[in-house]
Amino acid sequence: MKPAAFDYLRPASLDEAVLLLARHGSDAKILAGGQSLVPLLNFRMLRPSILVDINRVAELSFLRAEGAGLRIGALTRHHALETSPLVRERFPVLTAAMGHVAHLAIRNRGTTGGSLSHADPAAELPMMAMLLDAAIHTRSAGQERVHAAEAFFLGPLTSALEENEVVTEIVLPGLAAGTGWAFEEFAQRSGDFAIAAVAATIRLERGRIAEARLALMGVDETPVRLRGVEADLAGQAPSADLARHAAEAARDAVRPNTDLKASAEYRRHLVAGLVERALATAVDRARNAPR
Ligand code: FAD
Repeated sequence: MKPAAFDYLRPASLDEAVLLLARHGSDAKILAGGQSLVPLLNFRMLRPSILVDINRVAELSFLRAEGAGLRIGALTRHHALETSPLVRERFPVLTAAMGHVAHLAIRNRGTTGGSLSHADPAAELPMMAMLLDAAIHTRSAGQERVHAAEAFFLGPLTSALEENEVVTEIVLPGLAAGTGWAFEEFAQRSGDFAIAAVAATIRLERGRIAEARLALMGVDETPVRLRGVEADLAGQAPSADLARHAAEAARDAVRPNTDLKASAEYRRHLVAGLVERALATAVDRARNAPR
């Protein structure tokens, strides 16, 4: 199918984009990489009368160090994140995750802001934003806001974004030196959306877990952080038994849906296996990390 007719506007600055969005209200929709929006237009599931193409807003396209962390502009493409030496050095878990996003052609166009705004519960970037405690910056004509990632994703394809609010950048606070990490995803074929995925970071102090983070996707209506399991891991000496118990607790904590790809029960089974494997890998990397 082809989209319903729309007018096409192409602002050259963020100020101009925000003004256009305010002027056209609910008639307007932002176009970034188009990888999620254009299929929805083609199937006529969305019929905006105006598309505001932000691809010429150069000030939204950047990737810079900030302290030990990173600032990532909303127009930064998935492939730029995947191949950035700065990302690989500071957040190798993000590099690993981005390699699982769709196919190269889609990663060449898809953007950070587009993926976060689209809020697919089986998308890698929202899960990474949760794992890495990202701050999501937004702007509209009236205000600038900063959202904690955990408060941003409200449901399937639903975020805290208000009408005509633009995601401008995300800020990732640095990870402590020596943090181990792991990313484990199960999909039917390479490039497919995940059936389930797990990302973990582990920091050890004197042989015990000082901090554990566990984020999952594909197993609830939003990506999730398993705060209870993280708290149970803290202070423990890592072992195979501990990883197995955490995996069982993770399996019991998630609330997956059954869909055409997999049953809820199968997703729970995957969660246990992926969490156990992710914890073992993250602990191993933490033990062997340079300090
Ligand atoms: P667009 O399609 O341009 O926009 C998506 C939505 O976000 C629209 O509602 C738009 O108005 C809004 N929007 C865009 N930018 C902003 C902004 N800065 N501020 C506010 N709102 C904004 N993704 C994955 O994570 N994992 C996958 O495995 C995966 N597989 C895919 C497979 C296929 C075949 C396809 C077509 C897509 C797949 N995707 C996957 C989605 C892909 O990552 C998209 O790039 C991403 O979801 C949307 O980014 P975009 O820049 O293309 O946004």
